[in-house]
Amino acid sequence: MTTNDSPPLTASQRMANIVALAKRRGFVFPASEIYGGLNGFWDFGPLGVLLKNNIRDAWWQAMVTCPPLGPDGTPLSIVGLDSAIIQNPQTWVASGHVAGFADLMSDCRESKNRYRADHIVCVAVLAERGGAVQNLGVLSTLDGTDAAEKITAKAQKMLRKLGGGTLIPPDMHTAKAFTELSEAERAAVIGPDVENPGTLTEPRAFNLMFSTHVGVFQNEANKAYLRPETAQGIFLNYKNVLDTARVKMPFGIAQVGKAFRNEVTPRNFIFRTREFEQMEMEFFCPPEQAGQWYEFWVETRLRWWREAIGLTPAKLQRRDHASDELSHYSTACADVEYRYPFSEPKFGELEGIAHRGNYDLTQHAASSKTNLDYIDQENGNRRYLPHVIEPASGLTRAVLAVLCDAYQHDASRASPEWLKIKPSLAPVKLGIFPLVNKDGMPEMAEKLYLALRQNHTSQYDAKQSIGKRYARMDEAGTPFCITVDGESLTHHTVTIRHRDTGTQERVDASQLKPWLAAALQ
Ligand code: ATP
Repeated sequence: MTTNDSPPLTASQRMANIVALAKRRGFVFPASEIYGGLNGFWDFGPLGVLLKNNIRDAWWQAMVTCPPLGPDGTPLSIVGLDSAIIQNPQTWVASGHVAGFADLMSDCRESKNRYRADHIVCVAVLAERGGAVQNLGVLSTLDGTDAAEKITAKAQKMLRKLGGGTLIPPDMHTAKAFTELSEAERAAVIGPDVENPGTLTEPRAFNLMFSTHVGVFQNEANKAYLRPETAQGIFLNYKNVLDTARVKMPFGIAQVGKAFRNEVTPRNFIFRTREFEQMEMEFFCPPEQAGQWYEFWVETRLRWWREAIGLTPAKLQRRDHASDELSHYSTACADVEYRYPFSEPKFGELEGIAHRGNYDLTQHAASSKTNLDYIDQENGNRRYLPHVIEPASGLTRAVLAVLCDAYQHDASRASPEWLKIKPSLAPVKLGIFPLVNKDGMPEMAEKLYLALRQNHTSQYDAKQSIGKRYARMDEAGTPFCITVDGESLTHHTVTIRHRDTGTQERVDASQLKPWLAAALQ
């Protein structure tokens, strides 16, 4: 949002501002920054870790602590798990990750850069020179909001070198991914960071798993993998949970944790990183019920992003995968997508909900020679391998979606940039200030702070003008600021300032607890 007659920010300005604010206010820092960073790795700072944990807790609450009611009103049974990041490497052979968890990549022989082949967008560029239309060739760049700008800038540069001419604006509607071109067409593409055609190699598969060695010998026998998803740890523990947790079909196992993927082109801030966190749940059910549970979970998860996380409904959508997008074992898959500034006007994935059939349990049963059948004692000891619905979302990506959705720009405010984060998720809930740092106000404000911090993340601030203190809190997304002023001392009231409207109301100090309990939902 931009008000006060200033022109609206472009999507790429908004994105740049969000990244800058995230750094400036301690939400997200580049990892190992003092050594020049490490591509694809980010650290969460003091505000970022609070926000991330609040989102994680909201997910855990909705999944494990208080799972939803099923379509017939029966409370669902979902239990939690925290499995190891490194598992027996056979896990990843059985799951198909060793053979098939790969992206197509292409190297540039000239710039030595490596790209994810489906992220290279290619477009034919024309110019008018000496009264004739001349083909400048097929230029490429990495997809994103600035793709047209980058192609144009590069084409202008090429034209200048050729001695001038008028560029015909490239028609990005005709752009194609490098992987969509024929081999002959690919050989003629001018790579993203060079000016001559034919430097990009043919796409080839690149496995995304990070490997390591367990124990002292660095040999093939000791090779192991950092998990590329949390889901497989759940399948490995399916039998343990069944044997110990007194669960019966249908039931779920949920887990939140780190996952690692050696992404070819990590980018778009924390959208695609090489180390990230996932929130995944495997919902096991009788085969004949899987279709019904699939629909239930797609709708439940979409609603959660809207209602519990508060993302703008118009920026959220359900996208059902076409049948040629599905993996061979998947019956159906739908993504919850969000319109990130860098994907505009398109949407990007936030969560995938997959109907995985009984693929994973079949694979692990065969590979480990363990019987993973469920015995339904209530139905004549019927034996079957359950089918699975998997809502799999990214916690790191959730932080990004919340930051993008919350970011506001309003030049008329003392804090032109501020974060409209849902109060229940806000990293800091309260700013507590004395109006001036004297006349008994700091003493009362400090007393309030000591009482309120026991229940809510609060910050006490007595420095600078009250306007500057509000602005600092607005930028951090703090929903309420409580100020002790002269009247507080005589009438035992305080003012509460609302971040979103800037309005203030006076509340009896003794009523703050119930007031906040209702407001911070
Ligand atoms: P994408 O198509 O974006 O690569 P995916 O379909 O491979 O994602 P899944 O394997 O379904 O992703 O993982 C579930 C979720 O984990 C995704 O919806 C996303 O939120 C998150 N995720 C996956 N890869 C990354 C990554 N490299 N960085 C951050 N989050 C990720």
